[in-house]
Amino acid sequence: MKKKGTIFALLVILVAGIGLYAAYLNKELPDAPNPTGTSATAVAAAGGTNAAPATAKPTTTAPRRTQTKTEPNAATGSGSYGFNYPGIAPAVAAVGGQNWQLLLVNRAFALPVDYAPSTAVCVPGVYPENREMDARVAPEYKKMYYAALEDDAELIPFSGYRQISTQKNNFDLKITEYRNQGKSEAEAIALAAQTILPPGCSEHEAGLAIDITRKGVWDTRVDFETTVEFKWLQAHAAEYGFILRYPKDKQEITKISYEPWHWRYVGKEAALAMKASGQCLEEYLAAAQ
Ligand SMILES: [Zn+2]
Repeated sequence: MKKKGTIFALLVILVAGIGLYAAYLNKELPDAPNPTGTSATAVAAAGGTNAAPATAKPTTTAPRRTQTKTEPNAATGSGSYGFNYPGIAPAVAAVGGQNWQLLLVNRAFALPVDYAPSTAVCVPGVYPENREMDARVAPEYKKMYYAALEDDAELIPFSGYRQISTQKNNFDLKITEYRNQGKSEAEAIALAAQTILPPGCSEHEAGLAIDITRKGVWDTRVDFETTVEFKWLQAHAAEYGFILRYPKDKQEITKISYEPWHWRYVGKEAALAMKASGQCLEEYLAAAQ
């Protein structure tokens, strides 16, 4: 009897241990809107569809998974979007694949809820705060930054990697704003999704995109297209693996308004190919299939 009791006790400990571990793996961000969150002003300041809040907090203190450089981005394998917004059900982006540079993140494909790339500061010492990108991309951005500087174009990184929880807070605040205006829950969610990408759907959360501005203009504005910085990017960004992700003539495909400030890393080969063909990422990936 004593032996049976011991085995039973061990089994109880084992089951409890597995349960705790499973709970850890499945931990999710709170689903409730966070109207008292610190990004209220940030959301108010957010401009375009995919614009970053001007007052976004630097992400350097955020806890994140550590990965070795050779490992692909964190793949959860959970297979579920992880957020519960009625009417919004993107498929889960193919994270963890070999072709991480071409990871498709948009309104139709979202990052898993607990996705967090290993990041690095893309350009150290740039006013007013450093910005981060995926650790594999940051060195490429840095090269581009210094090359542009030699041509008297100073690329100021306005917004880089953004945590999914930040995007979720911004999205929830927008929903609350519409609900406070008397909209139904469904209407509020649909309207919020028109101005702010739902959590997981922004390339910034993958660490593969950066919003660029110029010195003296701390904002994302369409008139960035008239600057020497934009013209330099149009001419040379592809040589460093970056593309203009949301071109004016591709809005119907990308489902995102024209954003001259938003540059996405796809690798040099793909960037040069897209530049030559005039395809956006969705078209390029569809053609490659
Ligand atoms: Zn952007």
